[in-house]
Amino acid sequence: METYCNDCPRRCGVVRAAFWDEKKMPGFCHSPLQPVVARAALHQWEEPCISGSHGSGAVFFTGCNLRCCFCQNATISMGGTGVPITVDKLRELYGRLIAQGAHNINLVTPTPYKQAILASLAAPLPVPVVYNCGGYESQETIDDFKGKVQIFLPDLKYLDQNWPSATVLPKTIRKSPRRPSCACTTRSALMKWTTTASCGRASSSATSSCRAA
Ligand code: SF4
Repeated sequence: METYCNDCPRRCGVVRAAFWDEKKMPGFCHSPLQPVVARAALHQWEEPCISGSHGSGAVFFTGCNLRCCFCQNATISMGGTGVPITVDKLRELYGRLIAQGAHNINLVTPTPYKQAILASLAAPLPVPVVYNCGGYESQETIDDFKGKVQIFLPDLKYLDQNWPSATVLPKTIRKSPRRPSCACTTRSALMKWTTTASCGRASSSATSSCRAA
């Protein structure tokens, strides 16, 4: 049975392609259901509490549901850089990073691959899982990862409800439907069930911005 993708606030309602085909990728994120990974390596440049001394086990997924024009990983988020892999192979990548000493498995821009990643996490990992996203998430998706993810790392861009009309904002951000309220939804949903504390200063700052928006 065909299913229509509403996995993020874009709510594209399209039938996602099963496999990678650069010329035919329905949906704003331009991602297939099959995982596409651009890089998997120990990463030392996350927040210190995530990188620790050995590094975070970062898995960079190709595509993005935000596609900001200022993205520092544009070749990955919008340029199609990456290799299609199976769910079993994805699980193998986690194991390889853990064997190298990764303190955690850090899923970078995971939302478009929600179904495959949930399958890859069916069995618990021996280290925490980090959901490293743009904070543009649906309540349903956050709830689906409950018990699978221990640390959410939402990279919030802005939270002021009036900003989407400002001309200084990048076009792709202005066109993100309900971006500020979705960011607050993300925040509220996380506050309900995230048990692992995030860095204190970032956490309290985002909370006060949410109240002001
Ligand atoms: S995950 Fe991709 S296809 Fe699905 S609603 Fe979001 S942007 Fe659209």
